[in-house]
Amino acid sequence: MQETIYTIPINEAFEKGIELKEQGICECPFCILEHRFESEELELILGASMMEPDVRIMTNEKGFCRDHFKKMLGMQKKLPLALMLESHLDQLFKEITVRSLLPAGSDDAKLKKIEKRRSSCYVCDRVEANIRRMFSNAVYMWDKDPDFAAKLRSQKYICLTHFSELMSAAQYLSKKRRAALYDDAFGVVSSYLGELCADVSHFCKKFDYRYEDEPWGNSKDSVERAIRFLKGSK
Ligand SMILES: [Zn+2]
Ligand SMILES: [Zn+2]
Repeated sequence: MQETIYTIPINEAFEKGIELKEQGICECPFCILEHRFESEELELILGASMMEPDVRIMTNEKGFCRDHFKKMLGMQKKLPLALMLESHLDQLFKEITVRSLLPAGSDDAKLKKIEKRRSSCYVCDRVEANIRRMFSNAVYMWDKDPDFAAKLRSQKYICLTHFSELMSAAQYLSKKRRAALYDDAFGVVSSYLGELCADVSHFCKKFDYRYEDEPWGNSKDSVERAIRFLKGSK
């Protein structure tokens, strides 16, 4: 099979998914990969990439979303973060307050710039680009490598968001192969969804005095797991 830069991390995430399943822990292999890409990106941005001029141009332009600012604050690397903020704020100040740089009557232009900043994030964009490539690679690996297809079928679950992204990346497959991938991946999704329905119902029942003495079974963390299944664990 043709090796790509994603073959190794994808295989590792799918093996990790199976390992966690054996330990009774539920995790989606694509969520595992997403976390990996995200922490690598955060490490880079507050480390090796921080002083790179090309990267600085982009962080000045895009800034970061609230979630990633929060994660960076938690990394105890305040100086690199402050240095990035210094030039980001400086650029923002010039763009929205220095009259000579703005066209006449430019309140709308200012608001547009602020609006753009509000929704852009350097880390989100980098992670998103990696993930898009990861899905097309995963489809390719499933198509060419029977061992990988078996690993996919052995997962505890694939979250709903990532199932849908996987199937979107499989558009190029023949109709027959796409249907086979659907069966493999949906098999994992539907058996987990069945378990979740039962666990969440049991969780609700436990608040009824008649079921007070019944064991919790697998239902104790079912609300958290249901949300992770529906929305991913990012
Ligand atoms: Zn996922
Ligand atoms: Zn972000």
